[in-house]
Amino acid sequence: MLLGGIEGGGTKFRCGVSTQPGRLAAEVAIPTTTPEETLGRVAQFFRETTGGRRLDALGIASFGPLDLRHGSQTYGYITATPKPQWNDVDLVGRIAATVATDAIAFDTDVNAAAIAEYRWGAGRGVGTLAYVTVGTGIGAGILVDGRPLHGLVHPEFGHIRIPQDHEADTFPGCCPVHGNCLEGLASGRAVAARTAALPEQLPPDHPVWSLAAHYLALGLANLICIASPEKIIVGGGVSQGLSWSALHAGVRSTLGGYLRPPELNDAISQYIVPPMLGQDAGLLGALAMAEAAVTQEASAAT
Ligand code: ZN
Repeated sequence: MLLGGIEGGGTKFRCGVSTQPGRLAAEVAIPTTTPEETLGRVAQFFRETTGGRRLDALGIASFGPLDLRHGSQTYGYITATPKPQWNDVDLVGRIAATVATDAIAFDTDVNAAAIAEYRWGAGRGVGTLAYVTVGTGIGAGILVDGRPLHGLVHPEFGHIRIPQDHEADTFPGCCPVHGNCLEGLASGRAVAARTAALPEQLPPDHPVWSLAAHYLALGLANLICIASPEKIIVGGGVSQGLSWSALHAGVRSTLGGYLRPPELNDAISQYIVPPMLGQDAGLLGALAMAEAAVTQEASAAT
């Protein structure tokens, strides 16, 4: 089985091929510039690494928002992203026209990361889980019984509204659409705007980290109340600066002891956890999506 995976991100597109799920045979990281240039280099990578062989399936996991509704006229598109030049780009159509593959699976980058952590990482065997990323933006992939949740669109965890004490925190938020949604208050972009520094340059005891943990804890408590995940995995570049103890304590105090499972009380440090696959989760998840597409085609043919 020859599988391809693409993790499309705002700063780079990571591509990989695999003959054995969970293992990368070759990979490349391509800077995200214009769609023409980036997708041209994506096609070139697959041409060169497959030696002209057709992929059995290709998994595409991308930043969003995406149109995931089969049958929609804009299925496969990146829709309303503020990222310049990527608005209304037919991602699946353009890749299908240039990469030789028998099938394509398409999902959000965070759903792919959730799938990979469920298969091989911190969520192994946990069918109903959430993978939250805190990076330049904030997002969440949610699996229900091992399958990614789509529904009308797909979860947009970063854009939920959470309470802000405007006297204690006068920052207006940096989401171009909502201002002070969760992403507008606590993402890497928000941390940078609040401090005029890059998040990775800030010391661990900088007060912005406890503020970000406070807002993220409010968001995770909402996520728990709505989606009831059996585990929450928190990854993304900015999550590495967060205080985990502040995050755990914040979620517990927000829930106020209302829910009884030990995972939400004394055992919360085993419930809200870092990823095990690190930066590889999205690409490995895209390959797992490709594998699932091959399996589905095989079962449909019999
Ligand atoms: Zn927003």
